[in-house]
Amino acid sequence: MEPVNGFHNQREGAYVATVGLEVHAQLKTDTKIFCGCRTDFGAEPNTQTCPVCLGLPGALPVLNDQAVRLALRAGLATHCRIASRSLFARKNYFYPDVPKNYQITQYDRPLCSEGWLELPVGGEARRYGITRIHLEEDAGKLLHGEGDGSPTQVDLNRAGVPLIEIVTAPDMCSGEEAIAFVTHLREILVYLDVCDGNMEEGSLRCDANVSICPQDDAEPGTKVEVKNMNSLKAVRQAVEYEIQRQSDILARGERVAQQTRGWDADVGRTRFMRSKEYVQDYRYFPEPDLPPLAISDEELRTEQQSLPELPSEKRARWMQQFGLPAYDADLLSESPQLADYFEATAIALGDGKAASNWIMSELLAVLRERNWSVESFPVTPADLAELLRHIQDGVLSSTLAKEVFAEMIATGQGAATIVQQKGLRQTSDKDAITTVVSDVLAQHPEEVRQYARGKQKLFGFFMGEVMDAMGGRANPQIAHAILQEELSRRSRVDEES
Ligand code: ZN
Ligand code: MN
Repeated sequence: MEPVNGFHNQREGAYVATVGLEVHAQLKTDTKIFCGCRTDFGAEPNTQTCPVCLGLPGALPVLNDQAVRLALRAGLATHCRIASRSLFARKNYFYPDVPKNYQITQYDRPLCSEGWLELPVGGEARRYGITRIHLEEDAGKLLHGEGDGSPTQVDLNRAGVPLIEIVTAPDMCSGEEAIAFVTHLREILVYLDVCDGNMEEGSLRCDANVSICPQDDAEPGTKVEVKNMNSLKAVRQAVEYEIQRQSDILARGERVAQQTRGWDADVGRTRFMRSKEYVQDYRYFPEPDLPPLAISDEELRTEQQSLPELPSEKRARWMQQFGLPAYDADLLSESPQLADYFEATAIALGDGKAASNWIMSELLAVLRERNWSVESFPVTPADLAELLRHIQDGVLSSTLAKEVFAEMIATGQGAATIVQQKGLRQTSDKDAITTVVSDVLAQHPEEVRQYARGKQKLFGFFMGEVMDAMGGRANPQIAHAILQEELSRRSRVDEES
C-alpha cells in the first residue's frame, strides 16, 4: 500500500524500519452488526447467539444502523473521505471460530479512506496517514482446554459483534511512534463514544506490519505481521523486538520470511504463528445478501455536526482560554468525564488554573485512594467552585479548605453550610492575630534574638506557632504581615538597646 501523506524513516543502525498498524475497534452498540443479539462482555458462553450469527442456512443479515453511524464518526474525526456507496464483501477462510466459513467485511470499496491523524512527536506535530477504515464482523472465541484432556470449545457470543478496522499508512518507524499513535487513536475513539478502548477485554486490538530494509534500498523489505498485543506497552515492545529480530537476520546475510507472528508478553518476544496468507487466498467477492451501503449528504452533515470537540482541540482551547500549562491540559483531558468536570468547575469559578490545581492535587488523589470514577464523585463542579471561592475570598485557608472538602465528600453538604456549622471561617481580625503573635514571640525570646541576628528561616517556625495557636484559622496573608511587622519592630528595639 502506498503511504497517503509521504513517509519518513529513521536510521536503525544500517537498516530502515517501516511500521504500519491495523487496529480493530469494537463499536459500542447494544446489538450485533447483522442481527439483534446482545454484545455484553462476559456473558455465559453461547447465550448471545441466533441463526444469523451462528451462520445457519437461510438466515439473512440486516445491517445495524448504529454501527454505521459509529464508523462514520470515526471516519469523520480522522479526516477520512466517506464513500457515498461502499460495499460489503465475503472474506473466505476456514477456522472453527467462524461459523459461516467467511467473514463479512469490506474490501475494495470501504466506507472511509485517505484520512490522517496528527500528533506531537518530539515537539512538532507530525501527520500519519490512515489508509482506510472499514466495517466488519468479529469472529467467535476459542476456549482451549487446560492441557488436562478437556477439549477446545467455542464461544460464539462475539461472532457478529461490530468492528471497525483502521489501517494506517506505513508512516511509523519505531515502537515509540506506534505506541504514541495507538494512544492518540484510542483517546479519540473513547471521546467519540465509538469504542470503550479496553485493550485487556479485546475491545481494541492492534496488529503491526513491520519491515526492515538496508538504508539505501529503494525496495521496502519483507513485511511481517505481529499480532496479540493486548496493551499499549505490548505494542511498543513487540514492534521494537521485531525491528531488532529482522535487523539481526539481515545482518547475518539471511532473508526475512513473510509470516504472521504472535507477541508473547511473558517472554517478551514474537513467535512464529503461520506463514502469511496472500490476499488471493481469501477469495473475496461481494456479499450477495447485503445491498451497497449508501450514505446521504444529509446523514454525513448530521454526523459531522454532532461530533464532540476532540481532546487535542480541547487542550489547545484550555491553554488559550484558561491559561493552563500543557501538563494540566493533558492530565485533565484524559477522559471526557474528567474534562467536563474540570471545565464546569473552571467556568463556575471563573479561574481555570485554581480549578485545575485543586482537581489535580486534591480531587484526583481522592479518586485514586477510593478507586472512584469522576462520575460517581459526590461533590458537583458548582459545589467545588463554591469551596474554591471561599479560598479566593480569604474565608478559608487552603488547610481549612482541605478539611471542608473532606466534609463535603463525606456529607454531600455545600462549603458554606459546613463553614457555618463548624465555625471554620478563617479570621482576618487583625487585633486578635496581633495578640496571638505577641504571645508567641514573648514565649520564645531566644528564637526572637536569633532571628534578629539573621537566622531568617525561624520565620517559618513563628508562623507555624501562630497558626497552631489559632487552630489554623488565621488568614495566612494577614498573619504573615503582622508577624513580619512585629519581628522587625523587635529587631529594631534589640539593635537600639
Ligand atoms: Zn445473532
Ligand atoms: Mn479485520
